[in-house]
Amino acid sequence: MALTVRADLANLPDYVPGRKIPGAVILSSNEVSTPAPPSVLAAIADAATEVNRYPQMANDDLMARTSAYLGVPEERIAIGCGSVSLCQQLIQAMCTEGQEVVFAWRSFEAYPIVTHIAGARGVRVPLTSDYRHDLDAMLAAVNDNTRVMFVANPNNPTGSALHTEELTRFLDAVPDHVLVVLDEAYREFVTDPDLPDGLTLTANRDNLAVVRTLSKAYGLAGLRVGYAVASPEVAGAVRKVGIPFSVSRVAQAAAIAAMDAADELLARCELIAVERQRVRAELLAMGYEVPETQANFVWLPLGERTAAFNEHLLGQKIVVRAFVGEGARVTVAQPEENDAFLAAARTFER
Ligand SMILES: *Cc1c(COP(=O)(O)O)cnc(C)c1O
Repeated sequence: MALTVRADLANLPDYVPGRKIPGAVILSSNEVSTPAPPSVLAAIADAATEVNRYPQMANDDLMARTSAYLGVPEERIAIGCGSVSLCQQLIQAMCTEGQEVVFAWRSFEAYPIVTHIAGARGVRVPLTSDYRHDLDAMLAAVNDNTRVMFVANPNNPTGSALHTEELTRFLDAVPDHVLVVLDEAYREFVTDPDLPDGLTLTANRDNLAVVRTLSKAYGLAGLRVGYAVASPEVAGAVRKVGIPFSVSRVAQAAAIAAMDAADELLARCELIAVERQRVRAELLAMGYEVPETQANFVWLPLGERTAAFNEHLLGQKIVVRAFVGEGARVTVAQPEENDAFLAAARTFER
């Protein structure tokens, strides 16, 4: 019998990372464009001297630091190799073959991929016409076979965010057999005081898990660390299905140093939030449609004009994330980078 890989993998979209062009302004992956601060770089260099040794298998030091940082007991925490990995682990922990995972569309590109790989069935619920989660439609998509729902808040790629009241009402209505995974990858960029803090909500709800990442606000996208907070039972299952030693020694040390440097790193997020308002206001003044955003990016629903917009920007060495036929997601970065993008957007013929 011939060697075969799973036939269903042929239908799986490849994850498309942002295009890299030498010397370009990179606004495609929602990273912060400033390097890690000296204290974090020093921790990385220090950990690098011991890379002949395996990391702590249970992330002991990082687990203790995360617990103290969040004020959450360790039994409710799972550390993972980026929050994408935790999303995959959550599905593996909750779903068997053919069970259903509900998420909005468009939302984070990794959701359908990790769902399919785990053998579960993805159910996509269209966003509302104003680019927000359609929570009623998501509830209506739940059946006895549903095990997980992903809710990215703020949503990627639209930047739109759910308020405390609507999210709480939704969580109250979700049946007990469904785990809601609240993906707060951009929580640190939120300035609207009316937005929920997932950690508060998960404290007394067993069917809510929160995932967060060190990739965005904490500037460690290249090292791959994230964490999930859930009930002890769910967090324990997520740890169980994780690949042993997947969070490297260097990543564990950097994440601890980043939490130690939180004041400095979160101050950078405040500046990005200010820039976000400026970028959006300037785009609106140019006549672009730009939904309100609470993340470190803006969404331009350009529809059929998206490909042309993308080519126009690439011609000026500006790389954004284009979803052809739908829109472009543009990371808000440092003022000069944002200015370069705005200048290019100004000269696009619509
Ligand atoms: C960027 C992003 C993540 C982060 O993924 P990591 O694996 O932690 O780098 C998670 N969720 C959403 C919605 C994102 O946009």
